[in-house]
Amino acid sequence: MITCPRCGKSNPDGTEFCLYCGYDLKKKADLATDLKKDLNAASKGSRTPETKEVHSKKNRFLIIIGIIVIVAMVLVFLFW
Ligand SMILES: [Zn+2]
Repeated sequence: MITCPRCGKSNPDGTEFCLYCGYDLKKKADLATDLKKDLNAASKGSRTPETKEVHSKKNRFLIIIGIIVIVAMVLVFLFW
């Protein structure tokens, strides 16, 4: 059973819109899961202080890939 947050009446499970007032029950559920995800991400971030280090490592990795791609392009251009 889903209790409508607007009118407080019970709707059967899987109901997308409240049968009594038409409130979007599905939208509410999605919002709740999104909030949970955000909370999980936030708690994970506070638990691991090395996230910044990981980020900089990732950035360095991307820069290296970028340099390799540019060098490869230059080589292709020279030997064309
Ligand atoms: Zn309702």
